[in-house]
Amino acid sequence: MPPSSEGQPMGHEFIGIVEEAGREVSAVATGDFVIGPFAYSDNTCPICRDGFHTACLHGGFFSAAQAELLRGPQADGTLVVAPATEDEEMLKSLLTLSDVFLTGHHAAHMGRVGPGRA
Ligand SMILES: [Zn+2]
Repeated sequence: MPPSSEGQPMGHEFIGIVEEAGREVSAVATGDFVIGPFAYSDNTCPICRDGFHTACLHGGFFSAAQAELLRGPQADGTLVVAPATEDEEMLKSLLTLSDVFLTGHHAAHMGRVGPGRA
């Protein structure tokens, strides 16, 4: 990234505590610990139902998600509520579920990696 004299939030994956939920949000509530993937999606359109949330008809991609506050559009379809923890090692592990772990899992799935197959 180019240098910035004012600083710049970065990253597209995140974990955090919900500070406020919109009126139409039902699956996430204030105080929930959530994991957010790098793409937001409604989880209701035909493409999401086929499992391709990154191509959601109403979705998009986060940028600058590693910030103090983040607005999570399509919260019901995007955020995953998880048990809250303050264990730093667990938090680091949970953050991998927002991007890199799933990228690796998807690659292994698409490559049909399995026991006895590399
Ligand atoms: Zn969708």
